[in-house]
Amino acid sequence: MQTESRAAFDLTDDQRQIGDLAAEIAQREIAPHIAQWDREHAFPRELYTKLNAAGLMGLLVPEEYGGAGADYVSYARAVEEIARVDAGSAVTVSVHSMICMAILKLGSEEQKRRYLPKLAQHDTIAGFALTEPDAGSDAAALRANAKRDGDAWVLNGRKQWCTNGGYSTVMMGMFRTGGPGAGGISAFLVDNDLPGVAVERVTEKLGIHTSNTCDIAFDNVRVPQSALLGEEGTGFSNAMTALTGGRIGIAAQACGILSACLDASVKFAQERSAFGKPIGAFEGISFKIAQMATDLDASRLLTYRAAALYDAGKPFAVEASKAKYFASTAARKHAAEALQIHGGYGYTTEFPVERYYRDAKITEIYEGTSEIQQIIISRAYLGKL
Ligand SMILES: Cc1cc2nc3c(=O)[nH]c(=O)nc-3n(C[C@H](O)[C@H](O)[C@H](O)COP(=O)(O)OP(=O)(O)OC[C@H]3O[C@@H](n4cnc5c(N)ncnc54)[C@H](O)[C@@H]3O)c2cc1C
Repeated sequence: MQTESRAAFDLTDDQRQIGDLAAEIAQREIAPHIAQWDREHAFPRELYTKLNAAGLMGLLVPEEYGGAGADYVSYARAVEEIARVDAGSAVTVSVHSMICMAILKLGSEEQKRRYLPKLAQHDTIAGFALTEPDAGSDAAALRANAKRDGDAWVLNGRKQWCTNGGYSTVMMGMFRTGGPGAGGISAFLVDNDLPGVAVERVTEKLGIHTSNTCDIAFDNVRVPQSALLGEEGTGFSNAMTALTGGRIGIAAQACGILSACLDASVKFAQERSAFGKPIGAFEGISFKIAQMATDLDASRLLTYRAAALYDAGKPFAVEASKAKYFASTAARKHAAEALQIHGGYGYTTEFPVERYYRDAKITEIYEGTSEIQQIIISRAYLGKL
């Protein structure tokens, strides 16, 4: 049934095949290990070598820079299929891909040649460093700074909750190069092995245990002028550009979690009996499944629409926010329902729904909270009042 829902969006053969490839690899390389990885909070580094070899880490990177040159719809399908097995692995791929796209869109030819083949082909991972202890949704309040020193820049500050931070070879980091506000911020590509770059803390989290989330310290890190990504003073808008595309990845991640909730709930509702009947025969349960299936379809349609607009070179920011807002709300809500359908078993680690429940929540928070998505969406209708 779910395959039919996807087909209704008229996926091309390539888009379907890339989704199928991701599903096959996720089933083979993640599914047998995920319960243990989740329990041990393990970052499965070797998985990304395999995803890289299969072309899934460079899906969006054009072939001339060593990638697969796939479109955004294919990418969304791949992220969804990975998230269906493990949401933590999916966000690793999503953030990595977001940085690849930022380099492609904003980078100089030298930066593209230097970084993209490595990220697409040579088994390296990218990270994103915007958030600080006192600057999250209000990212323009960030304080980490970059000061000119001859023909170099010297970076100082602390970045919080950097996904992939401990395993990245390069991070897109936003630093203050001018006065207060958004216009005083510039983006840099910072190699993680530079002196002065250090992982300060690996964050313990409610869910997505296979995703690495770190605080990174930058202490007198010297980078050349050529590390600037885009023009000086455009770092905030460059970060927002990256996040706008990134939101489609998080929407796809939420679709994957929702899809896993539906699969598990249908199976359990058919197999578990109470009062002499399968529990799926009770409307209290079957209607939950109807709502879950409908919201999954709606989440997918919004996500694919945003991705298709991206592919067509049309404005997609509001559609990306709608997709992320809707899909993440649905994933959080239905992960709770999936657990409820499983009764006491759902609360135990014998079934994966408790993990879906823990993993789903973050999709409402990172890459712009649901409140921030609603600000973006409402402003498209009301203007900035
Ligand atoms: C697991 C994880 C991974 C992350 N990965 C990264 C990463 O790779 N790189 C990175 O830079 N950051 C990352 N983040 C940070 C993430 O993007 C922020 O947590 C998020 O943007 C929210 O910021 P905040 O936590 O500071 O919340 P705050 O901005 O302090 O918000 C607190 C609450 O107030 C609400 N709020 C704030 N402003 C408004 C408003 N104007 N109107 C209505 N409500 C408002 C928020 O929606 C939220 O509910 C990650 C976070 C986590 C937990």
